[in-house]
Amino acid sequence: MALKSRTIKLDKKLTVRAIGDALPGAHYQRCPQCDMLFTLPVLKPHQNAWCPRCDAKIRDGRDWSLTRLAAMAFAMLLLMPFAYSEPLLRLYLLGTRIDANVLQGIWQMTRQGDTLTAAMVLFCAVGAPVTLVGSIAYLWFGNILGMNLRPVLLMLERLREWVMLDIYLVGIGVASIKVKEYAFMQPGPGLFAFVILVILSVLTLIHLNVEQLWERYYPQRPARRAQEGLEVCLGCHYTGLADSRGRCRRCHIPLRHRRRHSLQKSWAALIASLIFLIPANLLPISVIYINGARQEDTIMSGIMSLASSNIAVAAVVFIASILVPFTKVLVLLTLLISIHFKCQQGLRTRILLLRFVTWIGRWSMLDLFVIALTMSLVNRDQLLAFTMGPAAFYFGAAVILTILAVEWLDSRLLWDAHESGNARFDD
Ligand SMILES: [Zn+2]
Ligand SMILES: [Zn+2]
Repeated sequence: MALKSRTIKLDKKLTVRAIGDALPGAHYQRCPQCDMLFTLPVLKPHQNAWCPRCDAKIRDGRDWSLTRLAAMAFAMLLLMPFAYSEPLLRLYLLGTRIDANVLQGIWQMTRQGDTLTAAMVLFCAVGAPVTLVGSIAYLWFGNILGMNLRPVLLMLERLREWVMLDIYLVGIGVASIKVKEYAFMQPGPGLFAFVILVILSVLTLIHLNVEQLWERYYPQRPARRAQEGLEVCLGCHYTGLADSRGRCRRCHIPLRHRRRHSLQKSWAALIASLIFLIPANLLPISVIYINGARQEDTIMSGIMSLASSNIAVAAVVFIASILVPFTKVLVLLTLLISIHFKCQQGLRTRILLLRFVTWIGRWSMLDLFVIALTMSLVNRDQLLAFTMGPAAFYFGAAVILTILAVEWLDSRLLWDAHESGNARFDD
């Protein structure tokens, strides 16, 4: 009887569709994205599991031990001084050599432009990767010394999308193509260290499985019965009953049925980002002085002039700076409106689209990285200079606000609205 509603395909992709009696060793689990309750059988070490309703990944089989992660963090720590302070690009302009590195680019932005915009670049290119390395080191030492690992584990999952070294690397490529018009360019000695740092950080982020770390260091008895009041924790993804103080038993953050003030916060961030996108696209984002003549470029005109020299790179910048932010804002807008009007059509498409633009959304920071690098390269006072325009701040703020709007939106509300519109519960 129980097997009738259960389909389990134990190959590469495992689908669990079961509500009823649990298999031996199976436990109950709620999907953190759509709140569906299902049973999860005992999985082999490298098996993945997806939610039967919304296809969210419930369990990731990829997993590295803390020791291996610590070794990667140590290698990254050794590379960082070279990758950040050695020249990435070398420019020969009017008989002099100009070097540009990550920190110098951010410093130029602070001096000639805006401290806030420089802080955004600093956080995504330097702050978040350093925090990642520090957190892994803390986990490794903390595990040996028996310290409380909970705050760091909670932060690590959120830190993931802010580590933008891979985007910065593409930014180096775009900047070098842009600058090639003015002067002769060469890769600097720091570029090699930077490329290896990018590879190590991407590998670490792929194999850093925070959920498995939670399971290993804070094991909790999983739910064996489909009790009333089983909730999934958004911090550590443990499904269980709240403790006597209403907290998650594993990570000790408050366990709530739905994220508090989710819609209000998400709307606020979305509206603010919509407003910021207007000046971001109308005002100049970069200003170039050639022989004293001032030439301003908006995001769009910058892409146009890039297209005349290299159409492929212009397409990348167009997708990152114009297509993705606007699509993300539109998709978020329809999702939030659909929650208010309990609309049912195309929920799956909208959620797939949201997952896609969320995944690709961080690439919008590309243009700011390009500007930071170009500023420190093309800087010969009166003859040839490149500075940031006022649009850069609005653009960076809009990108960060859309990332926050997605983060604050409790996607379970979409399924609540969908179900109340349907007035039929199929589980
Ligand atoms: Zn789901
Ligand atoms: Zn928790």
